[in-house]
Amino acid sequence: MLIAVLKEAKQDETRVALTPDAVKTLTAKGFAVAVESCAGLLSGASDADYEAAGATISPDRAQLVASADVFPVVNALPTADQERLKSGSVMIGFLRPLDDPASLAEAVKRGVTLLSMELVPRISRAQGMDALSSMATVAGYKAVIVAANHLHKLFPLLMTAAGTIPPAKVLVLGAGVAGLQAIATARRLGAVVEAYDVRAAAGEQVKSLGAKFIEVDLGGLQTEDKGGYAKELSPEALELGRQAIAKAAKNSDVVITTAQVPGRRAPLLIRAAAVEEMRAGSIIVDLAASAGGNCEVTRPGETFVYHGVTIFGPSNIVAEVPVHASMLYSRNLVNFLQLILKNGALNIDRADEIIAGSCVAFGGEIVNERVAAAAGQDVVRKS
Ligand code: NAD
Repeated sequence: MLIAVLKEAKQDETRVALTPDAVKTLTAKGFAVAVESCAGLLSGASDADYEAAGATISPDRAQLVASADVFPVVNALPTADQERLKSGSVMIGFLRPLDDPASLAEAVKRGVTLLSMELVPRISRAQGMDALSSMATVAGYKAVIVAANHLHKLFPLLMTAAGTIPPAKVLVLGAGVAGLQAIATARRLGAVVEAYDVRAAAGEQVKSLGAKFIEVDLGGLQTEDKGGYAKELSPEALELGRQAIAKAAKNSDVVITTAQVPGRRAPLLIRAAAVEEMRAGSIIVDLAASAGGNCEVTRPGETFVYHGVTIFGPSNIVAEVPVHASMLYSRNLVNFLQLILKNGALNIDRADEIIAGSCVAFGGEIVNERVAAAAGQDVVRKS
């Protein structure tokens, strides 16, 4: 039973799936781990660090791909690698099965078991495997740092002999994991923070971080689903939110947007006209850029100036913090691997709620209904 850690193939990726510490946890349990040469370099881990953790290092990617049984990854292996995978091997990571099912087709065909970290159910037992929350935490922090770095103003209130500098005003849209971390980070830097979310429960959390919650009367509309996630709103309710946001944005130096509705395009919260009303020199960081953007003029993966407002649409902001992003992610992966590696062997119990939720493909078939629909196939359930 061999676990292989490969160098990430995606161009803007700096994270590694397993850090040396994570490898050490697995080798201490008796698992063999092989690491492709230089796999951890961009996240600060050398081949020597992996060797010290008990891994073997190999420069031969093709041979690793063809021989290993388990592939913890950040992004799905490219098709050229998938063509060499053994049937029954396992790939686990951010596989984007709903966004890009076609990119997994070769692995499905070859009978590779695909486990998606995006689809891990958010139940208490799976909290240690919640990689979405780990990455959202890093993204929320980094978004504020990016904004503070580019804003031509200071964040905190400063009283000096030369006069008083007022604090920067930060508006955070969406107060889930990323939004709450953005609020906390902006507060630590001394900014005055306002936030908006459609979930009423978010209001208390926002206030507990010392920020003001923007209340919008949606006439008692049910905004949360059973799982506590935001629902897609009616056009009228969305418009009420947009009006309140436009008013607050006009007086803000920085707007960080994080609003998402699982499985849908990100809600449109800032129209171009609202950006045009913002002060020249202010900044928008749109963390929902790759899900369609919360701001109408965001360009995914680009930074540009629109009517004097600098708009950031990062496509992989966590890759700018590879050390800690990799550390958190690899801990999530190790926790998941412990579910499927028992007594030195692979043991995929598809009746387990976490595995059932995250399993995308098994035995040559797509086994997740939503993924099958996204791939345009009928789901095939094998017991
Ligand atoms: P997310 O990334 O899907 O969305 C981010 C935020 O955007 C959410 O707070 C959502 O309410 C908000 N949003 C959606 N539409 C909006 C709109 N039109 N206007 C303003 N805001 C809008 O969510 P997330 O950060 O992954 O988590 C959301 C919820 O799930 C939170 O309650 C969080 O505490 C909870 N959660 C639970 C667990 C768990 O293990 N039980 C783990 C992580 C998160």
